Amino acid sequence: MDHVDSDGKPKREDRYEVTKTDAEWRAQLDDAQYRVLRHQATERPFTSPLNKEYRPGMFSCAGCGAELFEATDKFDSGCGWPSFTQPKDDAVAESVDLSHGMRRVEVHCRRCGGHLGHVFDDGPAPTGLRYCINGVSLTFAPKDGALNPGGKDRR
Ligand SMILES: [Zn+2]
Repeated sequence: MDHVDSDGKPKREDRYEVTKTDAEWRAQLDDAQYRVLRHQATERPFTSPLNKEYRPGMFSCAGCGAELFEATDKFDSGCGWPSFTQPKDDAVAESVDLSHGMRRVEVHCRRCGGHLGHVFDDGPAPTGLRYCINGVSLTFAPKDGALNPGGKDRR
């Protein structure tokens, strides 16, 4: 399942503002985060608690903390992974992924290169795009005072 380049070297290691060795990433991230962010694994669908996260707030990279997606751009795609119509400006970069016999467009964090997921062209307005993102690649920070659907309004 994990994708490793045929030459065995980590991808894109030197082109990012945040770069760490494989050992440093392994120490910093938990096992699921490490496999997804650093080795292009895909989490099982419908496993991320962020699938049901619809409070206002910001989704950031679990690797480097860069702000990636606004909660206002999240939508329920039913595909089993957190989905967004667009990233924040200049937050992500895209590259062609030919693994698993498919041609897909991979989405990764522009700051640390961490793998996030893929983008497909079957999304809703306004962009028509569906950024299908592994929940383990993200951390969510609710906007201060945001209603928690499962809790009490703090305001
Ligand atoms: Zn990052």
